[in-house]
Amino acid sequence: MTELFGNGVSGGYAIGRICFIDSASPKIEKQTISDTKAEILRLEEGFETALDRLDCLYRDAIKEVGQAEAEIFNIHKMMLEDIDYRSFAKNIIITERLCAEYAVSVTKERFSDMFSSMEDTYMKERAKDVRDVSDRLILILSGKEETSLSSLSGIIAADDLSPSQTICLDKGKVSAFITQNGSKNSHTAILARGMNIPAVCNLGSSLSREFDGATAIVDGRAGRVIINPTDELIQKTESHIKKERESHDLFKALIGQPTVTTDGTKINLFSNIGDLSDIDSVLENDSEGIGLFRSEFIFLGRNTAPTEAEQFEVYKKAAEKMNGKKVIIRTLDIGADKKAPYLPLENEENPAMGLRAIRFCLFHQDIFKTQLRAILRASAYGNISIMFPMIISKSEIVSAKKLLYSAMAELDGEGIPYNKDIEIGIMIETPAAALLSDILADEVDFFSIGTNDLTQYTIAVDRQNNAISDLCAENQGAVLKLIAMTAFSGRKAGIWVGVCGEMASDTSLTDFFIKSGINELSVSPHNTLRLRKKIREI
Ligand code: PEP
Ligand code: MG
Repeated sequence: MTELFGNGVSGGYAIGRICFIDSASPKIEKQTISDTKAEILRLEEGFETALDRLDCLYRDAIKEVGQAEAEIFNIHKMMLEDIDYRSFAKNIIITERLCAEYAVSVTKERFSDMFSSMEDTYMKERAKDVRDVSDRLILILSGKEETSLSSLSGIIAADDLSPSQTICLDKGKVSAFITQNGSKNSHTAILARGMNIPAVCNLGSSLSREFDGATAIVDGRAGRVIINPTDELIQKTESHIKKERESHDLFKALIGQPTVTTDGTKINLFSNIGDLSDIDSVLENDSEGIGLFRSEFIFLGRNTAPTEAEQFEVYKKAAEKMNGKKVIIRTLDIGADKKAPYLPLENEENPAMGLRAIRFCLFHQDIFKTQLRAILRASAYGNISIMFPMIISKSEIVSAKKLLYSAMAELDGEGIPYNKDIEIGIMIETPAAALLSDILADEVDFFSIGTNDLTQYTIAVDRQNNAISDLCAENQGAVLKLIAMTAFSGRKAGIWVGVCGEMASDTSLTDFFIKSGINELSVSPHNTLRLRKKIREI
C-alpha cells in the first residue's frame, strides 16, 4: 500500500483502477540523427502503424456512427498515402538529418498551410485533417499513441489534463482524476467539480507511471490517493461513499423549497455548466437557472469551430430544457489555459493577460458574430441572457454591444425571430471592472462576479500555479472589498449582481455576500442544495 498526498480540488471518494494518459500535446524536440536510413525506416513503420490504426477506427466508426461519418478516416488514410506528403517528410530527414517526429511536424505545418490557403471551402477545411492525422503519426513515432479519451474509465491519471482532454472524457465512466500538476482554480479542477468527480492534483512525481493499472482509493477532499489499498480500507471507503450518498439524500429534502433567508430575502440560486449534459444535474438539484454557461467548452475537444447552426442547436436545447428558467450564456472565453487548435491563438508570454475572452472576440469579429447570431436565434426559445467575459472598460462593452446590434439587424433583415430585449450582462473579473463598476453599470442589465479571475488579477496569484494557491485564501480581503464595491454599484444603478466564481460555493462567505447585497449565486449543480440550506439559515 502506498499513500500519495496532493491537493484535493474536488471532494468525494472513489475506488477504481488507475488509467494513465498522456498530456495534451507531445513536445517535439528538434533532434539530429546520424543514421538517416534507419530513421527513414522508422518513419515508414510509423506510416504503416498509423494506416492500420485508421483502418480499425474506420471499422469502429461505421458501427458507431455510420458510413458517412466514418469516411473521415478514409480521407486521413489518403493523406498519409500521399506521395508528396511522404517525400516531403523523408526529404527533411535526409537533407537536414533531423528526427522523424520533427520531420512530420514540419510537414504538417507545410501541408496544412497549403490547404488553408485554398479558395475552395471544402479543401480549406482539410487543413485540420492534415494536422489531425500528422499528430496521430507523431504520437505513434514517439511511442505516446493516442487513446480514445471517451472510452477511458476508472481513475484517470496524467501529468496534467487540459480542459480539452477533460471535456472528451465520459463522465459516466470516469470515477476520479489524479494529476502530478494542476491547481484548484484551473478549469480542469472546475470541470471535475462540475462533473461531481473527486479530483486530487499536484501529486508531483510521486504519481508514477508504474501505478498504471493499479487499484486505488481517491479522497478528493483530503487530497489523498492510496495505491493498492487493503481490503479493510476498501470496505471502509465503500461505507464512506454510502454515507456521502445518504447525506446528499438529506439535502434532497430541500428540493422545491424557496431560496430565502430567514428575513425573507430572495437569493437566486443558479448553476454553472460547461455543456448540455450538465443540465440533467442542474434540474435534479432543483437549481433555479443557469448563471454561467461556459460556452467555450463547446469549442474544445474538436477540430473545427462549431458552426452557427451547431451552436444555435446547443443554446436552443439549453433554453428549452430549462423551460423558462434563466440561462446566462457567457460568450467565448477562449485563451489562457483554454486552447482550441483551429482557433487563431498565438503562443503568448503571459496568456492569462493576453488575447483572451472578449479581447479575442473583438479581434476576431467573424467568430464572435457567429456566436452572437446563434445565441440571439436561440433566445426565441427560452429565457436566455448574454454575458461578456473579462471586461476592463466601457469601450469594450460598447464595441461588443455594437456587434450584437449588428447581428440583430442581420436577423431582422432575414426575418429570423429573437428576443429583442435580451438581457445583457458582463463578468466582473478584473480589478479594472470592479473599480469602474459604477460607470459600467450604465451599460448593462447585470453583473456577474467571476471570483476565480478576480482573485488571480487582484492578488497577482496565477490560478494555474499550485505552489502559491494558499495565498488566495489568506489574502481574500482585497477581493472581498472589490466584490462589495461591485454590489454597491449595481444596487445604486438598479441592476442585479451575482457571483459565479468558485467563491460562490464557499458557505463561510454566504453571509458576507448577502449582507453586501448580492442577488444571485451560481455554483456547480451538486452544490446547489447545500447552499440553499445555508442561505435558509441566514
Ligand atoms: C471566474 O473567473 O470566476 C469565472 C467564473 O470564469 P472562469 O472560471 O471560467 O474563468
Ligand atoms: Mg473567468
